[in-house]
Amino acid sequence: MKILLHTCCGPCTIYPLDYLRNEGHIVHGYFFNPNIHPYTEWQRRRETLEKYAREQELPVIFDVDYPLEQFLQMVVHREARRCQFCYALRLRQAARVARRGDFDAFTTTLLVSPFQKHDLLREIGEAVGEESGVPFYYVDFRPGFKEAVARSKELGMYRQQYCGCIYSEKERYYRSSKREGAGEGK
Ligand code: SF4
Repeated sequence: MKILLHTCCGPCTIYPLDYLRNEGHIVHGYFFNPNIHPYTEWQRRRETLEKYAREQELPVIFDVDYPLEQFLQMVVHREARRCQFCYALRLRQAARVARRGDFDAFTTTLLVSPFQKHDLLREIGEAVGEESGVPFYYVDFRPGFKEAVARSKELGMYRQQYCGCIYSEKERYYRSSKREGAGEGK
């Protein structure tokens, strides 16, 4: 099949790309991630993917759209459910591009991360596949996560420390800084 691989970053591309190519598919990447904040972080992840894609001869469509405002308007007051909107926004756009490009299916590198809400991702991907008419190709890529982390380190790739949005950045650093603060003076 000709598969469009929605791609969140370079390190998460390693295993799904190998897996899909080993299955004999023709893979194209698609980078669309307005959930990554701030913009300079988005640029850094994009550049890391660009470099890896060149090395792997992976054609990638880089979406220059960065509708940060749309993302925030969608999730504000619903922050606890934000991942649901975030997945739907990105996968709907991937399905549109897959349909326009005559792809047989689409999938996402997000399925490699044990930190994502895997079942929700699958559910949304399949629903988007049905509504768009382009099947969502579900694979549980998580067994390859550790190996991909090791390879990305060997390759010296930039590895982000938080999922993407400002909320996840806060969760990553605010709690740890609170813990450090709590430890002070002991
Ligand atoms: S935590 Fe990650 S998946 Fe959830 S909304 Fe933020 S960027 Fe999107």
